[in-house]
Amino acid sequence: MTLVRDRLARHLEVLVEDVGARPPGSPANRRATSYVAGVLGDCGLSVVEHPFATRWWEPGDGSLATSQGVLGVRPDPYAATCDVRGRLERVERLDELEELAPDPARILVLDGELASEQILPAAFPFLDVPHHARTRAALRRLRPAGVIALSDDWQPVLEDPDLGLSSTTLPTVHRDALTRVGWAHLRLGGAVHDGRGSTVAARHGPAADRAVVSAHLDSKATTPGAFDNAAGVAVLLALAETWDEDPGPVELVLFNGEDHFDACGEVAWLHATELAEVHAAINVDGVGLSGRGTSLATLACPSGLEQAVADWLAGRAGWVRAEPWLESDHALFAMRGIPALAITSEDVHQLLGGLAHTPADTLDVLDLDVLTEVVLALPSLLALVRTSGPH
Ligand SMILES: [Zn+2]
Repeated sequence: MTLVRDRLARHLEVLVEDVGARPPGSPANRRATSYVAGVLGDCGLSVVEHPFATRWWEPGDGSLATSQGVLGVRPDPYAATCDVRGRLERVERLDELEELAPDPARILVLDGELASEQILPAAFPFLDVPHHARTRAALRRLRPAGVIALSDDWQPVLEDPDLGLSSTTLPTVHRDALTRVGWAHLRLGGAVHDGRGSTVAARHGPAADRAVVSAHLDSKATTPGAFDNAAGVAVLLALAETWDEDPGPVELVLFNGEDHFDACGEVAWLHATELAEVHAAINVDGVGLSGRGTSLATLACPSGLEQAVADWLAGRAGWVRAEPWLESDHALFAMRGIPALAITSEDVHQLLGGLAHTPADTLDVLDLDVLTEVVLALPSLLALVRTSGPH
C-alpha cells in the first residue's frame, strides 16, 4: 500500500510539477511520453510508441480596449494573433450569422445559441454535428477582424486551428458593456507550432483476447493537468509497477490526444490496432479528486459483465455506479461494441467547468488515498472483464 502510494506521488510530481502542461506535439509532451515509456520498460513490458504529427498552441496574452477601459482577455487556443480595431456586432442565432455579409472591420460577438456549446473543431475525427459545421462555414466566410464569444459555461467556445480566427471567450457579465460601446480594439497573442508526439502502449502477454487499460497523458496548454489526467497516468504506471499476480493478456495504453482538437494519439493507436483482438477496455480519466468517491460506468457490456460489476460494486466502500457517459477514451471502444468500463471521480461532470483545463488543476486537488484504492482495485476489475466471456 505504501509502495503504491509512493509510486503514485513520484509519477504525479514528475507529470504535474516537473513537466506541467503537455499538449500533444509540444516538447513538454515528449518529456511526458519518454518518462512513461521508461517506467513501463523498467517493468519488463514491451513498449511500443505510435507516432503522429500535429499542431500545438503556446498560450499568449490578450486585451480588449473600448471607450469603457481595457480588459485583460485570454485568447482561445489556436486563435490567430491580432491587433485590430473593429465594429462590435452581436449575433445570437445561426440563421442570422449565415445572412451577414463579410466585413473585415467587424468584431463578431457570439451570444445566445451560438455560444451555448463548444463548437467541434473541423479536424476532430470521431464526430461532427451539422449546426457546428454550418457555424464554422459561416465564420470562415465572414472573415471577421475578431470574435468574442459570451459564455459562462464554456471556456473557450472556439478551439480550432483550421478556422484561422482571432477569438476569445468572455463571461456574459460583459454583454451590456459590449452592446453599448460600438467599437473595440482587440489584441491577442500566442503561437501555433508544428510538432510530433506519440501514444505509448505497453503489452504483457499475447495480443489475442487482451484487455486494454487506458488513460490519456496529454493536457490542455493552459493547465498542469493533475486530475485531468496525470492522476490516471500515475494509476496505470503504479499498477504496472506493483501487480503481483499475472494480469493475463493486457495492454496499457497512454493515449495522447484526448484533450486535443484532432485526437492525434487516438487515431495513431487505432491505425495500428486490430480491435477484434481487444476483449474489453478499462479507461481511467479524472480520478482521485479530494472529497469524492470513485465512479464506475459500464458501456457496451454483456449482461454477465453488468451483473459482475454490480456485485463487485455492492461490497465496496468509496465506489459508486455512474450513468454511462460517451466521452473520453472509453468511447473509442464502446462505440465499436467493445465492452468498456469508465473510471472517474464521483459527480465529476458537475465541476468540469471550474477545474478541468484550468491552472487550478494542481496536485492540491488530488487525494493519494483514493488513487491508491483505484490502483489496488484494478487487478480485480481486470479479472472481471477477463472472465466475462467474449463480447
Ligand atoms: Zn481527461
